Amino acid sequence: MNETVKKGGISVQTEHIFPVIKKWLYSEKDIFLREIVSNAADAVTKLRRLSSLGQYDDNGETYRVDVTLDRDAGTLTVSDNGIGMTEDEVDRYICQIALSGALDFIQKYEGDNQNSGIIGHFGLGFYSSFMVSETVEIITKSYTDAPAVHWVCSEAGSYEMTAGEREGHGTTVIMHISDEEKEYLDKFKIEGILDKYCSFMPVEIYFTDLADAKEKKKEKKKKGEEDAPKPVNDTTPLWLKSPSDCTPEEYKEFYRKVFRDYREPLFWIHINADYPLNFRGILYFPKITNEYESIEGQVKLYYNQVFVADNIKEVIPEYLLMLKGVLDCPELPLNVSRSYLQNNTYVSKVSSHIVKKVADKLNNLCNTEREEYEKVWGDIRTFVEYACMRDRKFYDRVKDSLLLELTGGTFTTVKDYLEAAKEKHENKIYYTSDRALQAQYITLFESEGIQVAVFDKPLDTQYLAQIETYDTDVKYLRIDADVAGALKGDQTSAEDPALKDLFVKVSGDEKLKVEFAALKDEKVPLLLTVSEESRRMEEMMKLYAMSGMGAMGAFPTEATLTVNTASPLIAKLGAMEGEKQEKTASYLYRLALLSQRKLTAEELKQFLADGYGILDLL
Ligand code: ADP
Repeated sequence: MNETVKKGGISVQTEHIFPVIKKWLYSEKDIFLREIVSNAADAVTKLRRLSSLGQYDDNGETYRVDVTLDRDAGTLTVSDNGIGMTEDEVDRYICQIALSGALDFIQKYEGDNQNSGIIGHFGLGFYSSFMVSETVEIITKSYTDAPAVHWVCSEAGSYEMTAGEREGHGTTVIMHISDEEKEYLDKFKIEGILDKYCSFMPVEIYFTDLADAKEKKKEKKKKGEEDAPKPVNDTTPLWLKSPSDCTPEEYKEFYRKVFRDYREPLFWIHINADYPLNFRGILYFPKITNEYESIEGQVKLYYNQVFVADNIKEVIPEYLLMLKGVLDCPELPLNVSRSYLQNNTYVSKVSSHIVKKVADKLNNLCNTEREEYEKVWGDIRTFVEYACMRDRKFYDRVKDSLLLELTGGTFTTVKDYLEAAKEKHENKIYYTSDRALQAQYITLFESEGIQVAVFDKPLDTQYLAQIETYDTDVKYLRIDADVAGALKGDQTSAEDPALKDLFVKVSGDEKLKVEFAALKDEKVPLLLTVSEESRRMEEMMKLYAMSGMGAMGAFPTEATLTVNTASPLIAKLGAMEGEKQEKTASYLYRLALLSQRKLTAEELKQFLADGYGILDLL
């Protein structure tokens, strides 16, 4: 090709490609560097393969990719010592294949609503460099004896191919950054992109900012030291190793590095799925220290060690996105739209495999490392509950490993709780939503040997309602929902109509149900209960009102007041008369209310007035 210049014009339909590329992906322009660097890494991989097949003797040479920023020249250069290209190959791969690939890609998604449908904009390829460049040069020399080639293409769409000069085999892509895209001449910007997309590419990548390099050289000469440059990537990420070869320290180190989270992860799952799924990954359960912290995780998706995108819920179910982790799926069809992925059987198999692995891990911990499992339960509970709510299948897999935290601070599984409850309260699980407020009820239940579980998180009400629809036999009852645990024997006592009317009157609640029964604890004169159903309904209404779905009036709660016929105070009350009796009844009623929930302003006012009134009568 010596001395000859080969000129070409990009054909008719391709005339528009550059402006389209330029305008098109403006939200994800950064990916151009991933595309160019991964091409360079591929070129090295190809040559390595030829060498391992004995078709090329590389004399033990070290392969590398260099990314160089030259602000003075306004260029960003990516250079590799891979397979290189002959003139013919540049013609074929760059002028034809790469171009038609980019065209296909763009034609396919041009009409796509804001291009949101493409996963990580994968597959745009070499021509994505024109998103940020006015001119792109390639200087390449094939690993064969063919001479080097110099290809220059401007964004106007015309290219020129001449003889090039290059010492060794490989390819150098020089991007002349256009005026509007000067941010790509910033060192930190480039470092950031390399870190995001190229951290685990399989060939060592070195980044040099020429201005920086000159400075450093001067300094080092003075000091007389010379550091060996470090690659920006880790070519053998932990997920590639066999799980049995990885130490806990390695997993933690990897977690710290990738997620920059200096809290230790609780535990992790290393997935190594062979044929036909063929994907690998590590998922971590992060430590959540603050209840109010958003529990948003991050699952990074890779394609053969090249970062594609975060949190792709087509591949991993949304509820697992609370985890942090990496997934490398070389079989995933990624240059397709999201809607395609949603209906892809391979993708759904990958997704269910991940769910299964997570459930297996929980079961395994529960069965073999119970102590450890109990320790982390507080941290993972919200996650597990949410996952159960979202996915019945997940619930079915882990239901024997769901723990209940008991008021005494110990743990039991739902399964063991029900087993222990068989005699006294079959299929009923009693719980408290507020240990302090419901302390009186807790004491009553505990003295009866009934275990009380703690469900005091915001999600709990909805969670319990949901799992009751899965296992319809089992009912969760808040301890103030019935007096079962407090009754002395089974019998109810005879009604005292006068006291009944009095309590209805002082409560101001015409619908108040008043019952008479002997309670075990004589010191408790009255016990207020609200049926589980009625209370949940009220909570739901409040939730709706809070979310602005229409203001509801106060929902009438159906409360039951149990008058303890074994209480000496009640006997005294029965013997009182007039104002004294009424004030005392009113005071006692509000005491009962107080031991169940917080008083409203109005109730508190009445409570204080009654108290003072009674003192006055002394
Ligand atoms: P893809 O990488 O998806 O095939 P590209 O548009 O990025 O698409 O590149 C098209 C082709 O150009 C590649 O398949 C490869 O043959 C060739 N190519 C690109 N970059 C290089 C490089 N650095 N070294 C050798 N060949 C390259």
